[in-house]
Amino acid sequence: MNPLVLLFWYLGLTGPAGLVVATTRGETLIPIRVEHGHPAVPAPFLARVLPLTSEIRAEWAQVSFAGQPFRFLLDAPVFLHGNRVVTLAGGAYVDRDTLFLPLQWLSGYIPQVLSEGYRYDPLAGRFEETSVSPVVTKIPVVVPRPVAAAPRKVPTAASRLAPAGVLRSPHLVVVDAGHGGEDPGNPGLHFPGNLREKDINLAIAKALRTELRRRGIDVIMTRTRDSLITLSDRGKVCRDECDLFVSIHVNSLPRRPGFESVSGFETYFRAESRSAEAQRVENMENEAMRYETSVDAGGGGALDFIKKDLQTNEHLRESALLADLIQTKAGRVHPGGSHGVSQAGFVVLNTARRPAVLIETGFSTNRTDGRFLSAPAGQQRLASAIADGIVAYFQRYENKVATESEP
Ligand SMILES: [Zn+2]
Repeated sequence: MNPLVLLFWYLGLTGPAGLVVATTRGETLIPIRVEHGHPAVPAPFLARVLPLTSEIRAEWAQVSFAGQPFRFLLDAPVFLHGNRVVTLAGGAYVDRDTLFLPLQWLSGYIPQVLSEGYRYDPLAGRFEETSVSPVVTKIPVVVPRPVAAAPRKVPTAASRLAPAGVLRSPHLVVVDAGHGGEDPGNPGLHFPGNLREKDINLAIAKALRTELRRRGIDVIMTRTRDSLITLSDRGKVCRDECDLFVSIHVNSLPRRPGFESVSGFETYFRAESRSAEAQRVENMENEAMRYETSVDAGGGGALDFIKKDLQTNEHLRESALLADLIQTKAGRVHPGGSHGVSQAGFVVLNTARRPAVLIETGFSTNRTDGRFLSAPAGQQRLASAIADGIVAYFQRYENKVATESEP
């Protein structure tokens, strides 16, 4: 970027208020911009005075701060810290080659996770780097409220009228019970009798159908009995009328020391796999293609499809938000707790033309999870929590549409 342009932009668009960044090397005033409705700071300015690097890749800004990895989904109020999805009041964006990072992330989140190394004084608008080297503290579950005064949106007439928990418009969700027929899924070590993953997936999917219908949401199932459907055909069920695609699975681990002790609930949205564990789950679920006799007619096969990746998926941000809401609700009722949100390149999520998530409802290799997932009461509890997460997503969506359609 031309430094002169940068200077004009700096002088023209920022008021007297800025962010003071104080380090042992001195103090610097960083301009704050509120053009996108929330305060944001230009990454190149921060990079001069703080241990920050950034790089734009497709829809993501990859940011390293004091050695910590952050990935910001551009134009979406969400970022990933490692594998954790954190939501914000407003997101990162790029304007004329310059990356802007939400002030809320720098002033609220960083001092929480790097508490020894950084402090923020909201009254003075001052971000301080202490002389102590940063120590990574436990990642907080609750995201701090925005500290700077972001312009607030006045609730619309529609959103004021809508009582909590009630959706205003009709919605259709495609619920996909993973595996089926010749493809049993994982063997279900701690499921009773001869139950295997495909059976549990179907039972939870049916419970989810009931819970969604109870909340006024229409449901189409990819299968309602023990039959095999190709991964690409499952996603195709979610087309014009469909709002969301939700695939239900049960995780399992290969035999290795301690493998039975791992438990918990996890939601994936489709993107390149980020961790070795996400890669393992991706391979496991894509393995179902082994049972498919037809070759994907699209050319290049289903695996090539994965590689098309981020650029082609316009629903990535919505999928990430949906995954986060489901994870938050269901993580609370699951005996194995929450594993957080992850990304992986699931073929089944590729062909859905809508926001899509894949849920690993627990581990069949864990005794407690196995019991919870195979009991009708457990299935119903989990399905109810997942349905609550989906309702929360639709409420956000409806409020957003209502706000945007205001004159
Ligand atoms: Zn599975």
